Amino acid sequence: NALFAQVEELPRDPILGLTEAYVADKTPHRVNLGVGVYQDENGKVPLLACVKQAEEAMLAKAGPHTYVPIDGYAHYNAVVAQLVFADSCDLAKVVTVQALGGTGALKLGAEMVKVVTPNARVWISDPSWENHRALFSAAGFTVETYPYYGADGELDFAGLLATLEIIPAGDVVLLHACCHNPTGLDLSQDQWRQIARVVRARNLTPFLDTAYMGFAEGLETDAFSVRLFASDGGPMFVSFSFSKSLSLYGERVGALSVLTASAQERARVLSQIKRIARITYSSPPSHGAAAAAAVLADPALRRQWDEELGAMRVRIKKMRRLLADKLAERAPDRDFSYIVRQNGMFSYSRLTKPQAILLREKYAVYALDSGRICVAALNEKNIDYVAESIAKVMQ
Ligand code: PMP
Repeated sequence: NALFAQVEELPRDPILGLTEAYVADKTPHRVNLGVGVYQDENGKVPLLACVKQAEEAMLAKAGPHTYVPIDGYAHYNAVVAQLVFADSCDLAKVVTVQALGGTGALKLGAEMVKVVTPNARVWISDPSWENHRALFSAAGFTVETYPYYGADGELDFAGLLATLEIIPAGDVVLLHACCHNPTGLDLSQDQWRQIARVVRARNLTPFLDTAYMGFAEGLETDAFSVRLFASDGGPMFVSFSFSKSLSLYGERVGALSVLTASAQERARVLSQIKRIARITYSSPPSHGAAAAAAVLADPALRRQWDEELGAMRVRIKKMRRLLADKLAERAPDRDFSYIVRQNGMFSYSRLTKPQAILLREKYAVYALDSGRICVAALNEKNIDYVAESIAKVMQ
């Protein structure tokens, strides 16, 4: 039977491929800076105490594993909408649908864009999270890029704005709400206002991907971009993920929100998204969303989450500072302040591809070829070695 005889083998996912190489590496002091997960001081992915408590309470009153509604748990969707939008818009016009992580939210969103503007092109930042291009292309869109990371290693805001000015009406602009992946470079509030003005004036559809809310300055400040767009009444798409902020990666906890023009429109859009969910996975998983909703709905657990999220954010910032200082000690003629100015889990370290390869092969420090490193994988034990190795390959 020759059914699969001609199947082409695709290249490995570059990030997962790097982790496989890291796992196979036997060097005792090896460090994996390739992954996109937060790790604590001991290099472990944390189980947040607020989540653990919520899960213990859930276990104590365990019930049968029935189906979750197609659009997810209503109480989960309500707390997510409140968290993301607060009072920036009329929530009666917002559809929020539980999704399988941020990726699942992007997929639901992509299919919903196809319902309203099937011929739109989708504009992503250059560079962006690799899956953005793959996901929107697979959904049938032509994906274009707008300038983002400048040749000088800083945000190319002029280039970004100039490109928005020529994008045709109806096209979709995908923006990172905060903690841009991979560069760590975020827009200032004033720059967000300028972008929102152009996007609205030109009738582009904003799609804000929100995978790291809480990791830049805190939940409220990090929601600025989403709430700015929401405050003029929309329309807009927002994909949201709890993977990082509740450390619930494997539970697939996310949501898609769409801001519509009226409660009637909301009902019609909801019916479309339910159709998309139904034919894709029928209904979402229960455990993670139930735990997330329990944390957000309980004032004590919610306070604890704020503290735990704050501690993750502060630890990342401390590692940025330490890395920048330690690199500056070893290479005093270079400026590393950009590491401290970037937000979120990642730093575009300004390592070139040959340097990233050398770092890996000679020092067993695994960074992406683009130079992206996960700052959240640094800790007091590995940071001296990492700084020493980066300084050596940058020489
Ligand atoms: N968007 C961006 C920008 C991301 O970095 C990620 C996660 N790496 C996602 C979406 C997807 O998140 P999730 O793991 O919840 O699917």
